[in-house]
Amino acid sequence: MKEEIDYKITVNKPFLPPIQEYKKIIEKVWETKWLTNDGPLHEKFKEKVKEYLKVDNALLYVNGHSALEIAIKYFDLEGEVITTPFTYASTTHAITNNDLTPVFCDIKKDTLNIDPSKIENLISEETSAIIPVHVFGTPCDVSKIREIANEYDLKVIYDAAHTFGVELNGKGIGTFGDISMFSLHATKIFHSIEGGILTFENDEFEKELKLMKEFGLEDSDAVVPGLNAKMNEFQAAMGLLNLRYIDEIIDKREKLVNKYKDHIDEIDGIDHLCPKKKYKRNYHYFPVLIKDGYALTRDDLYSKLEDFNIHTRKYFHPLTSDFSCYNFKDYELNNANSISNNVLVLPLYYDLKLKEVNYICEMIDRLNEE
Ligand SMILES: *Cc1c(COP(=O)(O)O)cnc(C)c1O
Repeated sequence: MKEEIDYKITVNKPFLPPIQEYKKIIEKVWETKWLTNDGPLHEKFKEKVKEYLKVDNALLYVNGHSALEIAIKYFDLEGEVITTPFTYASTTHAITNNDLTPVFCDIKKDTLNIDPSKIENLISEETSAIIPVHVFGTPCDVSKIREIANEYDLKVIYDAAHTFGVELNGKGIGTFGDISMFSLHATKIFHSIEGGILTFENDEFEKELKLMKEFGLEDSDAVVPGLNAKMNEFQAAMGLLNLRYIDEIIDKREKLVNKYKDHIDEIDGIDHLCPKKKYKRNYHYFPVLIKDGYALTRDDLYSKLEDFNIHTRKYFHPLTSDFSCYNFKDYELNNANSISNNVLVLPLYYDLKLKEVNYICEMIDRLNEE
């Protein structure tokens, strides 16, 4: 072994701008005493977000999950929604919290996203929408999903939590689907401490989607049933500052991912899951797949890496269709099950060092030889 690392390598670490910059921008809040409700920082951040994401409309929310619940609620959907079980808890809870029944569709082994060729079989009289996720920042097959949605008159709401800055065919990823939700949580590639964005091309959605984060109130009358899900000035300040660094963050991650790929390509029985398709990426996650040819199972590799101070994540395991708070019926989810049982997300964040990537891969290689 070349170098020992005697501290813990976490799977993620939030990016923070220089504290002086944050203090400077926050001082204005003390002058104006405007803390929340469409403050000046919020308004400025919203404009910058629209520009960066290349979308016509964007609204800011206190977090991604509330934004997603609002997006679903906006369409007054009923019955069933076709979605993926290979996602974070948020996607499925947002569906059930809107009194809708998730119908789980299997995923594709290469993109880990919902398999459009399996959607039509799941459509029934009850189906009202498709809620796919661009998992780990890889775009779904947006044109196939649009085709199906048009044919059956279904809404499409993308959980785009992982795709800040991703572009497909030169278009912002938030322009596909009726509404897309981005998460700006501290662990995401770009964050505002907590935060969420809804993007949509149809200008008519704006008024109500905004009211819905403000208790649905117009003057003192509630015109839609709403939530309290407003982004405050402290969040907007963090978002504005982080936007100055986002391109640098993505460049740094690209270098780390390329280093990981070189190493993983050399190790038998383990594949990286980097998409082959061309599009503008954000390098949000580095998932690998542990195959039969590797000496350990995924769970054993996970535990052994913990012993070496390397924290990884079984992301996403279990599938949300197996959550114990629900009693969902069985669906045919062969790919989702097999990926969920064999996937491991390796550490990746702005501050990660190339030598740490080397160390992590050396350990994975060594464990294969023991
Ligand atoms: C992070 C995340 C969310 C929720 O976003 P928050 O901003 O944390 O509320 C939703 N879906 C997916 C896939 C996520 O990773």
